[in-house]
Formats: sequence, C-alpha cells, structure tokens
Amino acid sequence: LLAVRGLKKSFGNREILKGISFDLMAGQTLVLIGPSGSGKTTVLRCLNHLETPDGGSIELMGEPIGGAFVGEDAKWQPLGERALAAQRRRFGFVFQRFNLFPHLTALENVAIGPRKVLGVPRAAAEQRAAEQLARVSLKDHLHKRPSQLSGGQQQRVAIARALAMEPQLILFDEPTSALDPELVHEVLDVMAELAREGMTMVVVTHEMGFARKVADRVIFMADGHIVESGPPDELFSAPQDEKTRHFLRHVL
Ligand code: ATP
Repeated sequence: LLAVRGLKKSFGNREILKGISFDLMAGQTLVLIGPSGSGKTTVLRCLNHLETPDGGSIELMGEPIGGAFVGEDAKWQPLGERALAAQRRRFGFVFQRFNLFPHLTALENVAIGPRKVLGVPRAAAEQRAAEQLARVSLKDHLHKRPSQLSGGQQQRVAIARALAMEPQLILFDEPTSALDPELVHEVLDVMAELAREGMTMVVVTHEMGFARKVADRVIFMADGHIVESGPPDELFSAPQDEKTRHFLRHVL
C-alpha cells in the first residue's frame, strides 16, 4: 500500500531523517519506536505531506505523495492543491492532543468532516458518525462536548472522526501519551480492535506492550535512521543492534 524510499528531511541545517525506507502492506500495523527526537513524528508528517521531504519518495498505491523529485537536478515538483487535498483524505491522522472542536458534540465532531469535506448530507453524515462512535464504544456519549468527556473518551472520538472519513490508512502520533495512565488501555484496546479488523495503521508509540501484541512489524529508529526492523517477536526478544538493546533495556 505504502512504499517509502530514502526519505530525507532537514530542519535548518539539522538533518532529522537521513534516508528512511520501508513498505507497508494493506491491513498491516506498523509501529515506530525510538528515543525522543529520533524523527518518528517527522516520518508520519511526511507520509501525509504535512512536511515536504528533502529527498526520497513516498508512494501510496504507486502514486507519489505530495509531489516528486523530477529531472536531472531532482527538483521538487509539487502536486496541485486539489490533488494534494484528495491525497490527504486517504490518510486518517490521530494526534497526541485530540484537537476536537470544543463547541461541538462528539457526534458533530465526527460528522463535520464527512459533511464539509466529502459533501455527505447532514442526516447521512450523522448516521455515519453514530456508527463510528459506536465502534469506539461511545454510543452513550454522542451528545456530549469534549469538556464533558475524559481524555480517553476524547481520543476515541478523534479515532471515530478519522474512521468516518473512510481513510485507506490511519497514522497515529503518540495517541496515548497525553492521557492519564488509567485511560491508556481503553484507547489501545480500540486500536488493537481496528488492527484485528484489518485497518492499515502506522503508529508512533512508547507503549511497548501494544507494539509487541498488535504490530505486524516494528521499526526502531534512532538519530534519523532505521536501526532495525522486524516482527515484534524478533525485535523484542533478540534485538540485533546495541542501540536497540540499550533502548529496550530502558523502556521495558
Ligand atoms: P518525540 O518522541 O519527542 O516526538 P520524535 O522521534 O517523534 O520524538 P520528531 O518529533 O520527529 O522526533 O523530531 C525530531 C527532531 O526534529 C527534534 O529534535 C525536533 O526538535 C526537530 N523538529 C521537528 N519539527 C521541527 C520543525 N518544524 N522545525 C524545526 N525542528 C523540528
């Protein structure tokens, strides 16, 4: 579904991604782990073109994301605005901070994307929103505003909001790190269920239990590189690189 090759990104003169390559098959869950500042969030932001890469390529079903480097001088040729917007709609994004509209109810927060972006009529959009909120176990909270919901419930609304747009894959950026510890599991449970149902997901997380149980593949990043990657059983039980061993010793 997704093919990333030699992805590079710098901020100023700091090279944050130094050539990242990986593939993601439809229905798989890929988990990115690594120390703070290793570039995990930047990878996610490049995937749906919230950041423009400085080199390499990202393809979704063979289609270059955001544009491509073309010609002999590898000049960046951006996609037009409409094409980019259409591409972005193929990605769901769940942020660390839930970014819900505070003045809208859970139902309205989930229905607004389908209504405003996809042009779904209000009744049908609300029907779709109610279905997705039921899927994240919030069917009794449709008419509450974010301030009346716990952090875990708000994050589940954010997941329902992503699902309601019917994306081809969902990117999760540390979805539980802003939550009180006792609320983390309810969000991870929902994500594990989505993975089981065959949703394609890329997840940046520090929750190693989740990575171990749910990931099809884990990538360990450090200092802008992929140090190693593999099925979670292998990576957690028999890490090959000293950097991975050091990281795992400190987080497990
Ligand atoms: P964390 O777990 O802390 O989120 P991370 O692995 O996700 O870490 P990134 O958020 O990708 O790391 O950031 C990598 C580095 O890039 C950090 O040092 C950060 O300060 C820097 N960085 C990220 N975005 C920008 C930006 N827009 N401008 C300048 N520097 C940035």
